[in-house]
Amino acid sequence: MYLHKELETLTRTQIENLQLERLKKTVRQCMNSPFYKKRFDDLHLKPEDIRSLDDLYKIPFTTKQDLRDNYPFGLSTVPMEKVVRLHSSSGTTGTPTVILHTQRDLDEWANAVARCLYMVGLRAGDIFQNSSGYGMFTGGLGFQYGAERLGMLTVPAAAGNTKRQIKFITDFGTTALHAIPSYAGRLYEVMAEMGIDPRRDTKLKTLIIGAEPHSEEQRKRIEDMLGVKAYNSFGMSEMCGPGVAFECTEQNGLHIWEDYYIVEIVDPETLEPVPEGEIGELVLTTLSREAMPLLRYRTRDLTRILPGECPCRRHHKRLDRMKGRSDDMMILKGVNIFPIQIENILMQFEELGNDYLITLTNEEANDLMTVEVELKEFVDDYPRLQTLTKEIVRRLKDEILITPVVKLLPKGVIPKQEGKAVRVKDLRKTLI
Ligand code: ADP
Ligand code: ZN
Repeated sequence: MYLHKELETLTRTQIENLQLERLKKTVRQCMNSPFYKKRFDDLHLKPEDIRSLDDLYKIPFTTKQDLRDNYPFGLSTVPMEKVVRLHSSSGTTGTPTVILHTQRDLDEWANAVARCLYMVGLRAGDIFQNSSGYGMFTGGLGFQYGAERLGMLTVPAAAGNTKRQIKFITDFGTTALHAIPSYAGRLYEVMAEMGIDPRRDTKLKTLIIGAEPHSEEQRKRIEDMLGVKAYNSFGMSEMCGPGVAFECTEQNGLHIWEDYYIVEIVDPETLEPVPEGEIGELVLTTLSREAMPLLRYRTRDLTRILPGECPCRRHHKRLDRMKGRSDDMMILKGVNIFPIQIENILMQFEELGNDYLITLTNEEANDLMTVEVELKEFVDDYPRLQTLTKEIVRRLKDEILITPVVKLLPKGVIPKQEGKAVRVKDLRKTLI
């Protein structure tokens, strides 16, 4: 049940003791970086002032902008000859950020990913196929080394060429696949075109899905389509990549490895901690990184800590499914809306496929939202389409409080991305 038994079964007190010890070490390490040294000096703060976990609040936040301002190597805390690899984020929201790793960092990262994979029942003997892009994107090498560390035969299929991906699955007897959620649906469609029934013709039993927000409905769809269990995987390149938080077999939230990270949830406006169990911005402090430790890093991801104990008996806190990033939030007519709220509704309609695109435009002072969504099957019954469209509009309006224009499209019309899906296009012009 546990790969790293001592670490996965720590009690809360043991976790906190370990965190304090590692936090003190991390803060001392950070003093090797001119950036953190100056931050501390400016506040007359010394590493010795961090005596308890509560003293963390004395330390200022680190932001994506800090990483960009010090691009590429300004936050390094080790001599460059100790650095063996760099990764950078996908750059979804602007200039990419760079993260440096020593060999020890890479080893620890592989351990964290291996621990996640073991937690969902994968073992040596499983055949693990990775459909992530390799290269700078951490989902490639991150899962590669983690899966190898666990002793699985690991197939670095990489992104793209879906038919080839499926051929590997059938030829090699792949039992576990890592895919971004939007790609899992695509795989199923192409399997259907090729006359392949995943239940009958493949050995797939486990899917690891992550790297982009997805709804519980979408998970269920993936499980039903492919006949697998699908587990949510959360990570980001600033925190190494995959392996930060992962669902256990209970599928009720993502355990965050608190021997590697200190987790805080703060109000994104006031930056004060939110009350227990409420949604806010996830802030993470690395506890086991040499080349580029980060203190109180504002991830911009919105989530909450789930209250209560997990039946799996791990005491590491559980994060709720991500609601999105603070920068994904759309403000329309003064209402805050997240794309995931729209997905949640769309995925409840059996007639609809997995792909959709939200476009925001404005005419005069009026914001307009258009939701284009693909149909699962071809429908040429016009009255039926009209009734369906009306019902979708009604349900969306109940959820987001504004009335969108809904367009039902034939399958395959919305452009597919190789990496993370683009769900929102904001074409609004600034009005003077
Ligand atoms: P970028 O920030 O450029 O997209 P990364 O590849 O580092 O580059 O992506 C990390 C981000 O992806 C996270 O901060 C989060 O917003 C999103 N993400 C990763 N895993 C998940 C997940 N399981 N659910 C929702 N969002 C996720
Ligand atoms: Zn659990």
